[in-house]
Amino acid sequence: MQRTEISELGEFGLIDRLSKQVEHYHKSSVKGIGDDAAILAASELQRVVTTDLLLEGIHFDLRYMPLQHLGYKAVAVNVSDVAAMNAIPTQITVSIGLSNRFSVEAVEALYEGIRAACASYKVDLIGGDTTASAAGLVLSVTAIGEAEADKIATRSGVKKGDIVCVTGDLGAAYMGLQVLEREKQVFLANPDASPEIGNYKYIVQRQLRPEARMDVVHELRELGVVPTAMIDVSDGLASELLHLARQSGMGLQVYEENLPIDKMTYDTAVEFGLDPITCVMNGGEDYELLFTIRQEDHEKVKAHADIHFIGYATELAGQAHLITKGGSVVPLKAQGFNHFKE
Ligand code: ADP
Ligand code: MG
Repeated sequence: MQRTEISELGEFGLIDRLSKQVEHYHKSSVKGIGDDAAILAASELQRVVTTDLLLEGIHFDLRYMPLQHLGYKAVAVNVSDVAAMNAIPTQITVSIGLSNRFSVEAVEALYEGIRAACASYKVDLIGGDTTASAAGLVLSVTAIGEAEADKIATRSGVKKGDIVCVTGDLGAAYMGLQVLEREKQVFLANPDASPEIGNYKYIVQRQLRPEARMDVVHELRELGVVPTAMIDVSDGLASELLHLARQSGMGLQVYEENLPIDKMTYDTAVEFGLDPITCVMNGGEDYELLFTIRQEDHEKVKAHADIHFIGYATELAGQAHLITKGGSVVPLKAQGFNHFKE
């Protein structure tokens, strides 16, 4: 495989190459890459801004994370934060720090993933920064989005009696990571071993190439439903329930029997000797949406195949509880609990 040193192109040559294939979807992107700053048109809408910083060795492991997937995921997790505000993403910036381990081809692979995500979420790459790093890859994405003021959903809007909803299924990305870590150990011990990922395709994909649930944000708009509060599930359901409960000054109660878990996630958890419900509650990196709706909106949402009703809001300010299948009431902690012994 070809390897072009970044020093051959220089910083400006590299930026030129990366920005050549950039497409814009929004009229509000008046000027993108190429000047001292991008220009955005003024708008009647409110704007949301969110940013994430990803460090090699802390947030990702390039031994099993292909660079295309990393680029895609870095954009998707920021779009997920915009989605969690019930807003529509419009622009991103991408900043990278590169050690001399990385070639021009490697950076191009990263940007292939970034461009693929821009295309699937319809966001414009309008700028960024490029610098050398002493060790490893540094990647930071900032996303901008917009929404009518009365459509924005914060973490603090839960009201008594609201229904707690979650999209998709939970715990899969965490179990995908367990599979990847196990295969990495096998691979490091014996480089000739063939990785056994084929049987775990869905959960591995949930870890390597998660999707932001913009589809649900658009569908809720079409149904005329504004969540009273919303958050994306990045750190695990328990932690996100507590964020909503604390910031809303309400209690949240969810039922074990209603928690969505994919069969492969369940089976793999059992195979690894883990409690599937612990994976659902504490796994993280699901990038599903957790939100509350008013009871009168239930009728509009109930036919949606990928929205699950898992509980409701109570008056126990700042607390979240799990009602187990056996009827026990378990207070949730942000992390670190791993048993529901009854
Ligand atoms: P400055 O010296 O003002 O920071 P740069 O030379 O770093 O300018 O950037 C030139 C242009 O290229 C700017 O529009 C900037 O937003 C864009 N840019 C720089 N690095 C990246 C990158 N990694 N991804 C996307 N755009 C970038
Ligand atoms: Mg710069």
